[in-house]
Amino acid sequence: MREYPQIEVVQIQFNYLDYNDPAVESRKYYEVCRKFGKPVIVMEPVKGGNLVNLPPEAKAVLEEFGGGSPASYAIRFAAGFEGIRMVLSGMSSMEQMEYNISFMKEFQPLSQRELTAIDRVREVFQSKNLIACTACRYCVAGCPKHISIPDLFACLNAKKIFNDWNADYYYNNVHTAQNGKASACIKCGKCEKACPQHLPIRELLVEVAKEFER
Ligand code: SF4
Ligand code: SF4
Repeated sequence: MREYPQIEVVQIQFNYLDYNDPAVESRKYYEVCRKFGKPVIVMEPVKGGNLVNLPPEAKAVLEEFGGGSPASYAIRFAAGFEGIRMVLSGMSSMEQMEYNISFMKEFQPLSQRELTAIDRVREVFQSKNLIACTACRYCVAGCPKHISIPDLFACLNAKKIFNDWNADYYYNNVHTAQNGKASACIKCGKCEKACPQHLPIRELLVEVAKEFER
């Protein structure tokens, strides 16, 4: 942004699941925008509809809590951050538009209690047999095949949760465009020695290749 001061506004993918997701890094992009004083336009506030159709346990959290649909929570989460100029929510009917207007008209950011409920929803997503990679990236530097290991794990995790095309896009067009694919692993084991989580990285990469390189 330093090189392009003429930028007036920045559009980023931003929602409560991608906020700290290492593959998407919504929070980091948002913080850069804030640092340079650029207003933000949010896309994917409901993550392609996935935060509308929640896993049953996550849906139960919001229902028990009461007060609005899953979509309204997701949109209010995104809109509640300082510097957000606009939240682009795909709407396919007059009814959806009227509903969105109903809670955005006199906008209230999520309360602390509502944010706690969102934390619980996140926990449900996180409980779904996902790879426990913390994205510390200690494994990456020594890899002779330059495999972006944590990013590939993040893609598989996203696929397990959502089964959406975004994970394939990120796998093929972002994380393996300049780096090795999971199948390029020569099983030297250097990465596993560096991993503080003691993850069986070689085995997990086989799982990743099966999913994304069919
Ligand atoms: S085992 Fe595979 S992923 Fe790990 S460092 Fe060696 S080539 Fe890279
Ligand atoms: S060292 Fe382990 S926890 Fe850290 S990024 Fe690599 S796989 Fe993930």
